[in-house]
This record gives sequence, structure tokens and C-alpha cells, in this order.
Amino acid sequence: MEESTLSLPTGNWPTLKPGWVWLCGAGPGDPGLMTVHAINALRQADVIVYDALVAPEILEWAHPDAEKIYAGKRGGKPSAKQADISLQLVDLAKAGKRVLRLKGGDPFVFGRGGEEAQTLIQHGVNVRIVPGISAGIGGLAYAGIPVTHRDVNQAVTFVTGHDQTGEVTKTLDWDALSRASGVLVIYMGMKHAPAIRDGLLGAGRSVDEPVAIVSQATTPDQKVLETTLGTMLDDIANTEMGPPAIICVGRSVLMRQVLDWQALERGEAPRNLDPLGRGKPAEERN
Ligand code: SAH
Repeated sequence: MEESTLSLPTGNWPTLKPGWVWLCGAGPGDPGLMTVHAINALRQADVIVYDALVAPEILEWAHPDAEKIYAGKRGGKPSAKQADISLQLVDLAKAGKRVLRLKGGDPFVFGRGGEEAQTLIQHGVNVRIVPGISAGIGGLAYAGIPVTHRDVNQAVTFVTGHDQTGEVTKTLDWDALSRASGVLVIYMGMKHAPAIRDGLLGAGRSVDEPVAIVSQATTPDQKVLETTLGTMLDDIANTEMGPPAIICVGRSVLMRQVLDWQALERGEAPRNLDPLGRGKPAEERN
């Protein structure tokens, strides 16, 4: 294969060797959120096995000779079977290819990356793991929502509303989740938004609890819905929020009133410089 034209900052970057699989996160969408290690992998890979959530622009950076294999969901159809994807990676590696497995966000956050890596290692394939920016952190940051804030929460909980085996919102211990965590970040939650709302209200969270829904976060189509537990279902019904979307529950959502940096970039004024009502400048603690 000819040299890739994609350049890297000066440094001693690792070589993707034949027979190896690098399992890399691609971040939530904006190609600028790829890591240097992931870009280094794109430069070298013979084969790229990618998910639905990997932005098309990122794939355009691949070596022109690289084979690109799609392994994900499309149009709501069931995804390629996990076992098939994992074994395909094994086969590609055993055929001596330099394999990049590229997954949306972080490969180890609700992405089955752990299973794929385990299968590879069980089959004696060498693996490198490259973390990525997860949608539940980076996607919310693009919406101006910090997942932790000293005046709001000492813990944040990442929750999945759904997995390939079906709905998990009924089996989640909403009382425990609600008690333990001021802020909940829910992946794959839109389909089961009613169950999520009921679970949290049943656990004693208030109807006024702030909720944000961020869809297609970090992409040019990003949409943010600011709502509350009480009104979220109506608001979702009245807003076109396409998948994928993250649901964030908790008072850190209020911080968007001051931290919506994309609105500031568009020339809008901050809506509220003190949305948590501290009554003093942020730099003054006690
Ligand atoms: N490994 C990924 C998560 C995969 S699960 C990560 O770390 O981000 C898929 C879910 O992630 C989606 O249903 C959605 O809840 C969330 N998600 C991924 N990309 C997103 C984006 N750009 N905007 C909003 N949510 C996103």
C-alpha cells in the first residue's frame, strides 16, 4: 500500500502490524474528536470494520486502498450478529491484515468493545485498545452541559435504556440509581423514555427535575431539547429529535443556560450567568 497522506504530529506513534486488531473509539461524531492514535490507525489499516455511528467524514480519511466493512445497524434492522462481527475480526487478523475496528464514542462504553476484544484475545489475536470520547460526556459538553459540577453532583451514572437483547429499563433499580446519583446520563433511552420517566418519578425525583436530550451531538445536525421530567414526553413528541440521542437528567442541565458555547459562538448572549443561583461569581467558593 502507498503511503497515506494523512499526517500526524511529530512523535513516536505505534505501528499497526499485520495480524493485529486495533479497537478504536471514533468519538461521538465531530471528526475533530478523534484521537491521534485513532488517526494513526486510519493511516495504516488494510481493513476498517466500522459501526453506524462512525461519521462518514472520518472514513474518508482512510487510506484509499483500505477495505471498508460496515458492521452495524441500519434502518432499525437488527444488527449484524455480535458473534459474526467478532469472528470476522478474528478471520481478518488471521489472514494477516492490519485491522482497524472503529466504533462510535468509546469502544468500552455500551459498545460491546469488551466482548470483541475478549473474543480476539481468546483466539490468540493481538489487540490494542484506543479509547474515544463517549457521547455521554463529549456530546453533553457540546451542548454546554458538564456531567459533573461541584454545586450539583459528586457522582454521575451512565445508564443504558436498551441493549440488543431488549429493554432494560424495567429491570433497572431506579430507586438506587436515583439515590446514588444527582446526574444520570442515559444512552439508548429514547425508545423507552416513558419507562425512564416513570422510573425516576417513582423513585422520588421531582417533576421539575431538569432534563436535556441531545441528539446527533457534536454533528452539524445536533439538536438539544431542554425540558423536565414532568414535561419531557410531550416535548419529545413535539420535537423532531432523531437518533442517536443522549438523555441527561439532573441540575447540571441548568448550566447550559450559561455554557451553551455554540449559541455564544453564533453571537447570542448567555441566557443566565448564574443558573444554579449561587449568588456569587463562579470563582468564589466559600
Ligand atoms: N460507545 C458509544 C455508545 C454506543 S451505544 C459511546 O461511547 O458514545 C449508542 C448510543 O450512544 C446511542 O443510542 C445514543 O444514546 C448514544 N450516542 C452515540 N453517539 C451519539 C451522538 N452523536 N449524539 C447523541 N447520542 C449519541
